[in-house]
Amino acid sequence: MTPHWKHRHRITPVAAAVAAGIVFTAVPASAVPGGPGVGDPYFPDDGNSGYDVSQYDVHVHYDPARPRYLEGDTTVQAVATGDLDRLHLDLEGFQVTAVTVDGTPARAVSREGAHELVVTPAKPIAKNAKFAVRVRYSGETVGKGWHTLKNGGANASGEPHSATAWYPANDHPSDKASFRLTATVPDGWTVIGNGRPGATTTKQGTKTFRWYEDRPMDTYLSTIAIDKFTVRNSKLSDGSPVINAYSPGADIDPKNEALLPEVIDFLASKFGPYPFSSAGAIVIMGDDDTETIPALETQSRPTYQGGFFDTSMVHENAHQWFGNSVSFSDWRDGCAAECFAQYAVQLWYEKKDGSDLDKGFYVSMLESSKADPEFWKTKLYDPGQGRELDVALYDKGSMMLHALRRTVGDDAFFGTLKRWQRDHRYGNASWRQFEALAGKVSGKDLTGFFTAWVDGTTVPEKKYLLPGSLGSIDPGVAPGRPTQSR
Ligand SMILES: [Zn+2]
Repeated sequence: MTPHWKHRHRITPVAAAVAAGIVFTAVPASAVPGGPGVGDPYFPDDGNSGYDVSQYDVHVHYDPARPRYLEGDTTVQAVATGDLDRLHLDLEGFQVTAVTVDGTPARAVSREGAHELVVTPAKPIAKNAKFAVRVRYSGETVGKGWHTLKNGGANASGEPHSATAWYPANDHPSDKASFRLTATVPDGWTVIGNGRPGATTTKQGTKTFRWYEDRPMDTYLSTIAIDKFTVRNSKLSDGSPVINAYSPGADIDPKNEALLPEVIDFLASKFGPYPFSSAGAIVIMGDDDTETIPALETQSRPTYQGGFFDTSMVHENAHQWFGNSVSFSDWRDGCAAECFAQYAVQLWYEKKDGSDLDKGFYVSMLESSKADPEFWKTKLYDPGQGRELDVALYDKGSMMLHALRRTVGDDAFFGTLKRWQRDHRYGNASWRQFEALAGKVSGKDLTGFFTAWVDGTTVPEKKYLLPGSLGSIDPGVAPGRPTQSR
C-alpha cells in the first residue's frame, strides 16, 4: 500500500440473510475446528479455523447502472485440517440464496457477527478431505474495499480488508489460494483482475471476462475492476504479459509504461526472480465524492489512482516479492512488506540517479525526525491493532533497513533478501523469522540492533543508528534523545 494512507472506519450494517430453500439457524461458535477466526491478535474473527483453501472460483454479475448491486456465485475449494461438523466463511452483507457442500445443499446456514457465514454441511467433513463449498448470493455490497468509480464503474481493493465485500473467503493472509474470476458486465464495460486473462465471451448484450491467478494469493490482494478501460499490452523481458488498464481520464504515460519491465528487472536483481507470470497496472479514477482509494499491491497488477509513476510503481511492485509472494503470518508483520517496499524506492534511486543513500536519504530522514518523538515511538513489529500499516513502517522502517545494510554489509544484506524470498516463496513468514535469518546469513548477533530499531520506541543508540559508513555522518545532524514534541 502507498505510504501516508489514513485509516477510514465505516459502520458496516449486517444484511439480513433470509432466503427460500435453506434453513437459517443460530449455531454457537466454538474454538474447535469449524469456528471463526484463525487467532490473529488484531483481527480475532478474520479467517476461520478447520480448513485450508486451495482455490477460489468467483463468478460475479455487475451492472454499473445499478451501483453496488452484485450477484455472486463463488465456489471455495478447500482441504479440511480437522473434522468439520460445520465451517465458517467471511462475507459481509448480501442475501445468501443457496449453499452447497460438494453439490449437496447445506443442512443449515446462518450469519453471525460482522462477517461470519456459518455453514453446516449435510454430512460432516473428515479431516484431510477435499471439499467444495458453493455460495450463491446477491444484494448491495456493504463491505470496506468496494469503491464506485468516477465513470460509473467499480473496483474492489483494500488492505487489510476488501475480499469480503464481494465474495465469501477465508479472509486472513495465512490462507493463500489460487484464484479464478469470471465476471459478466454489460457490453461496453471491461473487467480487469489479477493474473492472466482467459477467453472473453459475449451473450445477449453482456460480456464475460475471465482472469486466472495460478500462484497462491492472499484474499486482500485479489481485485476486480470494472470500467470503460483503455487496455494497453506489452511484455516483461522474459516474455510474460504486461496488461495496463486505464480508467477514462487517467493519465496514460507511455514513458512510465515502458519503465515497468525495467523496474521489475531491477527488483529481480535485488530480490531474486519475479514471482508471478504477468504484470501491469490498473489505473482507476475514484469518485471524488466518496473516498480516495489508496494505491495497493493487488497481486501481479497493482492498483493506482489517477496515474502511476516511478516511485509508486517501484513500491507496489516490490510488494510482489515482499507481502505477496512472501506473505505475513499475521497482521503484526506489516514491516515484512512495507519496510521493504519503501526501501526498494531508495534502492531504485541509488541505481537510477547514483544517489548516495547515506548522505541523501538517511541524512534527510534524520534531520526531519531528530526532534520528533512521534517518529520513533511506533514499534516496527506488532505496532498495535489499528496501526498495522502505520506510517512508521514506511519511514522508520526504510531507515532501519538501510542501517541494517550498513551493519551487515551489502553481500549479507542482499543475500538475506534473496534467501528470504527463496525460502518462503509463495508462503508465509513472520518478521521475527526475518530477524533470525539476517543474523544467520551475516553471522552477526543482531539482537541489540533489532531490539533498538524494531522494538524500541526512542532513537536507537549511536552504534545502531550510525553503523558502518553512516558513522561519518555529522553528529550535529544525528539526533540525541528527542526533546520536543510536535
Ligand atoms: Zn505498501
